Amino acid sequence: MSLTLHNTKTRTKEPFEPGDPSRVTMYVCGPTVYSRPHIGNARPALVFDVLFRLLRSLYGAEHVVYARNITDIDDKINAAAKESGRPIGDITDEFADIYRADLNALGVLPPTIEPHATAHIDEIIAMIEALISSGHAYEAEGHALFSVSAFADYGKFSNRIRDDMIAGARVDVAPYKKDPADFVLWKPSSDDLPGWDSPWGRGRPGWHIECSAMIEKHLGETIDIHGGGHDLIFPHHENEIAQSRCSHDGAELARVWMHNGFLTMDKDKMSKSTGNIVTVHELSQDHAGETIRFAMLSAHYRQPLDWSDDLLAQAKSTLDRIYGTLDKLCRVDAADDAKPSEAFLAALCDDMNTPKAMAELSALCKAANTTTSDEERALVKGQLLTAGAVLGLLQGDPSSWLKGGTSDDDAEIDALVEARTAARANKDFAESDRIRDELAARNITLEDGPDGTKWRRDC
Ligand code: AMP
Ligand code: ZN
Repeated sequence: MSLTLHNTKTRTKEPFEPGDPSRVTMYVCGPTVYSRPHIGNARPALVFDVLFRLLRSLYGAEHVVYARNITDIDDKINAAAKESGRPIGDITDEFADIYRADLNALGVLPPTIEPHATAHIDEIIAMIEALISSGHAYEAEGHALFSVSAFADYGKFSNRIRDDMIAGARVDVAPYKKDPADFVLWKPSSDDLPGWDSPWGRGRPGWHIECSAMIEKHLGETIDIHGGGHDLIFPHHENEIAQSRCSHDGAELARVWMHNGFLTMDKDKMSKSTGNIVTVHELSQDHAGETIRFAMLSAHYRQPLDWSDDLLAQAKSTLDRIYGTLDKLCRVDAADDAKPSEAFLAALCDDMNTPKAMAELSALCKAANTTTSDEERALVKGQLLTAGAVLGLLQGDPSSWLKGGTSDDDAEIDALVEARTAARANKDFAESDRIRDELAARNITLEDGPDGTKWRRDC
């Protein structure tokens, strides 16, 4: 099945062709770790997790290298440390751990590599030195700055004209800049801020150069896929391209650039700066991680998605239906050579059309619920489970899901068990046998013991 992806660079869908199919490389800009991630921050992690899983299934798990970085040096982190009086390293460690745990709860696989910016200061300094030597950057008052006029293609990627770039980047028009659009590669640190010795004095890197240096070190000069939220197109990705191409004789930084759309709440952008957020942690208190994941993937990754209770309720009820079907198939062995259906893969390989792929799951359930053929049931069960694995869904135990997920059902079974206990106490064995048979037909097994009757969903 051939994969087609929308490339931000060309603004079209293109057939995906990795440089080397035995080492498919993907880099996604990761979090700045100073606070809990909100569900909008989880969107790129989730979207690119699905792409990671899809690439693994197409090229073989051992042939895909996925790096998602941790930005652990940033002015927002410094501000959080100052405000809380805590050491910077404590804050970044704590929130990197929380980020991993929150994503794990949403079924996101760990990336192959998780580089930390502060562990790559030598590589960052080396890249800046090379940019200065080749005339693409310069030193000024303890800063190193990228000279945008030295890169003729600057602005082409994000399709910006010069005045927009200056306004959009909110670049400080500092007196030491040769051009107001020049951006920082290195800046000086006062004694109370984290800093490293460099040829330009004690200081710290700018944000953009971190990604360029980490990509070069772990994945190479030209990678297959580079991803992030669409707010990163400018200035972050424009600047990554400028730095990397000027360091590598003009070589392309990424063959395909992919950007997810924004999550909104009450139609306003979800953003830490406005406080219009709900954290992954808060959501996980009230909803299964799989429900949150399903809700997120129910929209195409490039479309905006308005996050709401209705969206979650819809996701939960669809998952209940699918797990209900899998539960009914619990005595059926999935076909040995099971793989996702052509229709499912075609949808996912069409620029990750998850809504269409998920509709295919529902179609499979319908087929399972209507067929009378055991062979078809085995085929459909295999298709459901393998398709679910590519989406990071449906790998749980159906009866546990239904037990945890549909308490009404449990209450009804509890009531039937009690009625049977009462019938037995009244020596009404016909009634108690009838109830036992009714429960057996619903795959409920009863165990009578000294502490009363326990029930379990069975297979
Ligand atoms: P940050 O930690 O703010 O740098 O954001 C980490 C990632 O989350 C970036 O790729 C952002 O583009 C992405 N992001 C932030 N807010 C949203 C949102 N509301 N919807 C989708 N992606 C977002
Ligand atoms: Zn980046």
